[in-house]
Amino acid sequence: MKLIFLGAPGTGKGTQASVLAEKYNIPQISTGDILRKAVAEGSELGQKAKAIMESGGLVSDDIIIGLIRERLAQPDCKPGYILDGFPRTIAQAESLDKLLAAQGGIDAVIYFDVAEDEIVRRLTSRRTCSQCGYNYNMISDPPPTDNTCEKCGGDIIQRDDDKEETVRHRLVVYNEKTAPLVDYYKKQNKLYTIDAARDVKKVRQDIINLYEKLAA
Ligand code: AMP
Repeated sequence: MKLIFLGAPGTGKGTQASVLAEKYNIPQISTGDILRKAVAEGSELGQKAKAIMESGGLVSDDIIIGLIRERLAQPDCKPGYILDGFPRTIAQAESLDKLLAAQGGIDAVIYFDVAEDEIVRRLTSRRTCSQCGYNYNMISDPPPTDNTCEKCGGDIIQRDDDKEETVRHRLVVYNEKTAPLVDYYKKQNKLYTIDAARDVKKVRQDIINLYEKLAA
């Protein structure tokens, strides 16, 4: 099954994508994670992306489409995948449609619906392991008091792009560039909306039910 998880930053796409990916043994492809790895490694891509990411802007469509084309050609993508954080613009969605034309396109798009105030509250309280990427939350899942990740021992930090001013900017960018994808996929009859403001377990169950229905 080829899925897109669509929604503003902080709506829980990444958390749910990793659960589903593990359950159904398909890769979770997060362009944000790929870019953060490139920044940490200091590669040419990382150097290009760093300042843009810190400011909460979008990395150019050409770069992102190139990354995705390469990633989807890997053998582990054969049984399907979850795209998390891609596409983020109409141009990216159109390129993806072309790339997948021979396979009938993407199977479904799950839209994570959460009100903006709640997103700001969630993102500014998020803390992330600098090593393994695990997300903690100061309200619902606080990190250990010594700020060391319980999964891998890495340092826990607040991502620069989770600071309030940047979060507000990311939401402006989301509303302008990414929100139009809701209509784009609605027109293709591929959009399924989930009320993602609810408890994480309820959201997970809805997504699993939907996956099972789509796979049947
Ligand atoms: P994320 O972890 O998905 O919130 O992504 C973190 C940052 O990486 C974003 O704020 C963008 O700067 C960049 N990024 C991730 N995915 C994309 C994409 N599909 N298109 C453009 N920029 C992206």
